[in-house]
Amino acid sequence: MSGIRYQNISKSFGEVEVIRSLDLEIAEGEFVVYVGPSGCGKTTLLRMLAGLEPVSDGRIFIGDRDVTDVSPKERNISMVFQNYALYPHMTVAENIGFGLRLQGVARAERDAAVRETAEMLGLGGLLERKPRALSGGQRQRVAMGRAIIRQPDAFLMDEPLSNLDAQLRNHMRTEIKALQSRLGTTTIYVTHDQVEAMTMADRIVVLNGGVIQQIGTPDELYSRPANRFVAGFIGAPVMNFLPAKKFNTALPAEGAAEIGIRPDDLKLCQKEGPMPVQWPARVELVEPLGGEALVHVAFGDQRACLKHRDGVRPASGEEIEIGFEPGDAHFFAADGTAHAI
Ligand code: ATP
Repeated sequence: MSGIRYQNISKSFGEVEVIRSLDLEIAEGEFVVYVGPSGCGKTTLLRMLAGLEPVSDGRIFIGDRDVTDVSPKERNISMVFQNYALYPHMTVAENIGFGLRLQGVARAERDAAVRETAEMLGLGGLLERKPRALSGGQRQRVAMGRAIIRQPDAFLMDEPLSNLDAQLRNHMRTEIKALQSRLGTTTIYVTHDQVEAMTMADRIVVLNGGVIQQIGTPDELYSRPANRFVAGFIGAPVMNFLPAKKFNTALPAEGAAEIGIRPDDLKLCQKEGPMPVQWPARVELVEPLGGEALVHVAFGDQRACLKHRDGVRPASGEEIEIGFEPGDAHFFAADGTAHAI
């Protein structure tokens, strides 16, 4: 097991620079999730660490070892891909044991390791099946088995659950997290799924345009976003951004250009009572989500969304009062940086 360090990494494809002077340290045993919009460089960061893509500049370390110029198979890293990349003509046992076979591990030892890994993943009864005779979740487990059996220094997972349906995804998410805790292997996980990022990560790395915007625990990113980009990217539904001048008289917002209020923190005054910052709005749309509802409101040329739990839901077209506690507000300067008031 080892930590990982990207040191001043840049990467260009032709003229296009997709990663810019990036520094990142991941501790031994840590579960780190990369998130960011499509094209921000998540997969490229993983592929450079795996050795599948050369860096344009900088160094990469696994533990104390500088692996920048080391071939992929000598980096002792396992990668799990979205499409699982299983060999269709091989059985589950052969797929799981393939890496050990390449390493020249003797048959008996290999068989024992395959059996142990398969048991750990609940695949014990399926060892002689071919991938086509497995469900999506079972295939995903075989891919995990192939990664685990080599006892690598790190697991790299690129959207490993995105081919599964929602229910199986939730289930596998918990399984992967539990397995990683048990094995204690440093893991980097790329996902588009907020719930996966928030629930699995020890720390999340938010990327935009090849630049790290913030690194922190899920709670830190949610409650103390470093800038408007992170504030808008983490949390669903997205934070409401409103011009600070609207609140000049009600809030000490000097220097702030915008105020951010999460839908969880924007309240309906008819339900919560008078709020320190409060104003009238009209309900445009109510989206029921079972136990709660998203209420979309408009005031002047602004729009906002609030999350409504128990009690009487407002109706479309209704005139209401909304508000928030000043302590729940986030302030952003004109350049997007979070602004302490
Ligand atoms: P997604 O979430 O859509 O998978 P990502 O964050 O993983 O995106 P990357 O796949 O790392 O993004 O791509 C980063 C940028 O580099 C993109 O603009 C992409 O078009 C570009 N890119 C990636 N691979 C190549 C390549 N082989 N040749 C040229 N450009 C590339």
